[in-house]
Amino acid sequence: MAFDEFTTKFATEEQCRDYLYQLRWPEGFVCPKCEHGKAWNVGDVLFERANCGRQTSVIAGTIFQDTRKSLKTWFTAIWWVTTQKTGASAVGLKNVLGFGSYQTAWTWLHKIRTAMVNPGRSKLKGVMEVDECYIGGEENDGKRGRGTENKTLRIVLSRTFFWVGKL
Ligand SMILES: [Zn+2]
Repeated sequence: MAFDEFTTKFATEEQCRDYLYQLRWPEGFVCPKCEHGKAWNVGDVLFERANCGRQTSVIAGTIFQDTRKSLKTWFTAIWWVTTQKTGASAVGLKNVLGFGSYQTAWTWLHKIRTAMVNPGRSKLKGVMEVDECYIGGEENDGKRGRGTENKTLRIVLSRTFFWVGKL
């Protein structure tokens, strides 16, 4: 996915949130506690309130949880880290995102790299399409075809849901 394609697809917070929502609840919202499907927005659009009164969020348990930065910034960071053919550096990420702090960029890079590493099958339930060859590498046929990075982004985002294993 070219950068302009990426920025069009993820131009707003809503687009980023909807994308995560689709990844997390492809069959529609399911409460992690009571498994009911009923939910509605509460204040912040990221939150859903389920039947049992539990509040959850499309970013709960992910590397985005408790972030003060926008999802759009996170998506951009992930896109950039996963498309650097010679490896991503904290300095590079800092420059791309315009962060003032090297420490913040380093922390983000660490979190994103953690999400890129296979955290183990037990934590990957529900993410059936994960395929090692897409992560930072070439596809089976050796081509970096159109859509390859799109898949990488999707897989890394999927993995972010399992990063802390608290779903
Ligand atoms: Zn519930």
